[in-house]
Amino acid sequence: METPFCYCRKVARLRTSWTDANPGRRFFNCSSTASGCDFFCWKDPPMCNRVLLVIPGLLRKLNQIENELSNMKKKVKILYFLLLISWLYILL
Ligand SMILES: [Zn+2]
Repeated sequence: METPFCYCRKVARLRTSWTDANPGRRFFNCSSTASGCDFFCWKDPPMCNRVLLVIPGLLRKLNQIENELSNMKKKVKILYFLLLISWLYILL
């Protein structure tokens, strides 16, 4: 499918849906949010039921892992700082 033009004759913007009903499914809409243009059309075909069950679970797990990684990075920074302080205490 070629990139369509919206109702206000601009090249439509390709976006990706992350709703549970259409996870990862791409669609076109208007590139101007201020124009009031309500152009919308799907680029990808509808997804099968199995995909609709699997992808939201994978996304939840990915978000959980990213949060855990972020927390671990914060803990590593604190531990590194405490290690530096302990070495300074020992040396002085
Ligand atoms: Zn438009």
